[in-house]
Amino acid sequence: MQNKKYSHLDILFTETDKKKLSELKVLLVGAGGIGCEVLKNLVLLGIPFIDVIDLDTIDISNLNRQFLFQKPHVGKPKSIVARESVRRFNDDENIVITSYMQKIQEFNAEFFERFDIVINALDNADARSYVNKMCLFTGKPLIETGTAGHLGQTTCHFSGVQCFDCEPREAQKTFPVCTIRSTPSAPIHCIVWAKNFLFPKLFQKLEEENDNDENSEDKESRKNEEDGYKKLLNERNNKEFEKMILKKVYKDDIIKLASLEKLWKGKKKPQPISSFDAKQPSNDSQKVWSLEENVFVFLKSVKNLNERFLDGQELFFDKDDEDAMEFVTSASNLRSIVFEIQTKSLFQAKSMAGNIIPAIATSNAMVSSLAIISLIKLLKNEKSKLGTTFLSPHPLPKVPRLLTHCKTLSRPDQNCSFCSANRAITKVDTNETNLNSFINLIASSFEFEAEEATVMIDGRLLFDPDFDDNLEKSLNSLGIKDASIVVVSTENEEQHPIYISIVHSQADQPMIYNIVKAANLKKRKAESESDDSDREIDAKKIKSVEVIADQDFVLIE
Ligand SMILES: [Zn+2]
Repeated sequence: MQNKKYSHLDILFTETDKKKLSELKVLLVGAGGIGCEVLKNLVLLGIPFIDVIDLDTIDISNLNRQFLFQKPHVGKPKSIVARESVRRFNDDENIVITSYMQKIQEFNAEFFERFDIVINALDNADARSYVNKMCLFTGKPLIETGTAGHLGQTTCHFSGVQCFDCEPREAQKTFPVCTIRSTPSAPIHCIVWAKNFLFPKLFQKLEEENDNDENSEDKESRKNEEDGYKKLLNERNNKEFEKMILKKVYKDDIIKLASLEKLWKGKKKPQPISSFDAKQPSNDSQKVWSLEENVFVFLKSVKNLNERFLDGQELFFDKDDEDAMEFVTSASNLRSIVFEIQTKSLFQAKSMAGNIIPAIATSNAMVSSLAIISLIKLLKNEKSKLGTTFLSPHPLPKVPRLLTHCKTLSRPDQNCSFCSANRAITKVDTNETNLNSFINLIASSFEFEAEEATVMIDGRLLFDPDFDDNLEKSLNSLGIKDASIVVVSTENEEQHPIYISIVHSQADQPMIYNIVKAANLKKRKAESESDDSDREIDAKKIKSVEVIADQDFVLIE
């Protein structure tokens, strides 16, 4: 790295650090909002080996913040376009970027072993949790990133400190398209519909909708609905425009939807609204409006928003925009009335609609930079300076954000189902190996009686002392494949479950390695009672087929 291009690194790194940097292999999982930023930063640092994984293709809605993508890229794989676009930041041909358009759960532990550092730039908890497990199996440090609107955080997990799964998380709320578009059953479904479907449909200039929900019963009816919108939107200058919308959405479309018998088996059919009398409501935002009051507010807000649209204003949903919020409240309430769902006050609807958090480019950029700072600290082996950095709300008004760095990472949570358990990687030919020899391999390494084992995969029982039907079956036929995670537990109450990461290999003899034995439950409890949280983390290099009784190992020296 004698290149002038990297002279800015001289203030950061010693010659030894630069040597390490020149050999560094980084895995970046996710090439979305944060991933694009991280990739650009990695390339500017001159990291020579970068692998990028992303399953998604580029959507038009990504373009406002995922800056490696432009309009001609829509529909193309994110990982590939990101790899190509990022070259404009650094054309150094020594940088090798490899991209994969696959699900992260398809990559086994052997793949993860190739890297020095893994960076997560993901948007869902399942994928994050899988990468966390793979990093623990292979002893790789994981830099975890995330943003929510103006807020965000970066955490560096490595062996000996809390893992990503130590803190239980709330499940993400997403709704199937069909629930939102045709069969809502809760107020939030109607609010999401009003905000994410009807508002953009009426007041934003959108490209042709891409309906991927191929098999749905209501596809034909949705197409008719679409054609209806197209016709109506040519009537923006018509004095009756808002009344025409009201009639189409809550009467005509509902009559058609209710006629799809298959959709309503065992469910109550929606009832079209037959009379559209309007009555002005009071100014009390906590009061739930009547049907007539909702009609009044709907007509008023559509009229106002349509005028703003015709004036050339670019409209987007903002919960603090009075017209937009009145529109979403009344539109969702009228839909709730049609489907006999409870209606909400303006105040309640505002908090529900506001919870749907936008992705913000500056937050992504800040969190990505923090990820790179973590990477630099890892490279310089400054583990005591690593931790979580939060992008949090500032307590003072009008100061939007505050960066706070929390230096100390807690020790692994002894109740964490994963990092407090035993674990190992097993390399086997899953077609040739039967369950019996697999259990024997694990039992001999973890010193328990094979007959006492209970073996599960994805919550499915494969073997226990009272169920031995599968012993002669091949692992593959039982659903144990490359990259599977198998859980083996024993009758010994002192022993944690054992997680086994499967690497399918036809070439090698069955082998088990990277064995981590958790201390038994009693010892752990005693340890945690006399715990000193500032304890130094001592670094031992993990070697293949080495038993490490303590979990305090790290790979970067
Ligand atoms: Zn954990």
